[in-house]
Amino acid sequence: MAFSNPTVVYDYTCTICGAPPTYRYLLKRFAFDDPDDNEVRAWTYSDYCNCFSRNRKHRYDCRSLQGYDPQLLPKEDIRWLGDVRLLGTEMVQDGEPFVDDDYSLIVSPIGDHVDPDMGTFHYQLNAEILQLHKDGVVAHDRCLDILKLVWKLPDKHHQGRPTDLGNLPLILCQGFSATELGFGNIFDKFDGERCDDVGIWNPVSASMWTVMDPNGPFDLQALFAQASLPPATDTESSFSFSFPTNLERTTSTQPSASILSLLPMEIHLQILDILPTPSVLNLLLASPNFRHFTNGKLPDSFWKSRLYFDMPWCADIVLEQVKQQRDAGVAVRYDQLFRLLKETSMPDESGTESEASSNIGFMALKNRRRIWRNCEMILERVRVSQR
Ligand SMILES: [Zn+2]
Ligand SMILES: [Zn+2]
Repeated sequence: MAFSNPTVVYDYTCTICGAPPTYRYLLKRFAFDDPDDNEVRAWTYSDYCNCFSRNRKHRYDCRSLQGYDPQLLPKEDIRWLGDVRLLGTEMVQDGEPFVDDDYSLIVSPIGDHVDPDMGTFHYQLNAEILQLHKDGVVAHDRCLDILKLVWKLPDKHHQGRPTDLGNLPLILCQGFSATELGFGNIFDKFDGERCDDVGIWNPVSASMWTVMDPNGPFDLQALFAQASLPPATDTESSFSFSFPTNLERTTSTQPSASILSLLPMEIHLQILDILPTPSVLNLLLASPNFRHFTNGKLPDSFWKSRLYFDMPWCADIVLEQVKQQRDAGVAVRYDQLFRLLKETSMPDESGTESEASSNIGFMALKNRRRIWRNCEMILERVRVSQR
């Protein structure tokens, strides 16, 4: 993508998360106390109707339906979008403004070299314009941080992480599709376009969570309240391992001289804790020695291990908040919480605003999961390229 038109507002998005490189031009103007204030006018989303229809029904792409409501998405929760870095493919000329960081990445200082108003980025000293997706890519500082975090963690698929991040910018220059970037189908109404034909982000209400700060705030009170309720019935379990009765009958005749049967329950638990979830399910199905853990008999330590395996993007955040809840006397049920977290952090496929998509805490969770998944996918590509 070369900069043929320097008058566009911005012509590029973060290569990791796909969101815009500025927090400006995203919010509805009318929701501000003083919509005519110059500062507000300068960066809020103009909300005029461009339908020209007589029946007062807005077209699906009417600008008055776009722009995020600042009462639902406060300005401070989208400021992070402006903190972008340029990820260079090579050290530019004398290289001075770019630094080679601890991760072997050639990065510019935050906010240098990019001009979100002009849609250009350039070498600071001589104003030479750099070519996007050739000389480098733009990434949010937050997204780069998450990428480094993911890189440092062991890969749950046991394929390993790439040995270094040296060719990351080159891989990122190849770009990713909107579907790969995990937006769900929220932009389908706009023919899959996140940006309009002059490169302006489409701030349709259903996409609000995709620009939410992935570092929170994570207000999970509503989740904890739900996860503290007793289950409707004894047999209800969010993560139950119940077996067909015929299977139990046939497997119960297996010889009992299994090495596993000689181990104490604590060791059984330790085995479950270190296995990925599909292996846990297989083991519980295959081995009669693990049957006593079915139907809600799994301890907290097991659920904590599941959080780190299945939801690493939020495990630390959630466990910290669970601790606070427990200190305050709230009995949070991990199995319920686990199920609720899975549900609420999934991308919105409905294309409409749901309760979860207007809750700041859930929005942050969803976007963090989305960016984390993108980072896993990007790192996998880097790993494959290093073979
Ligand atoms: Zn990003
Ligand atoms: Zn309209």
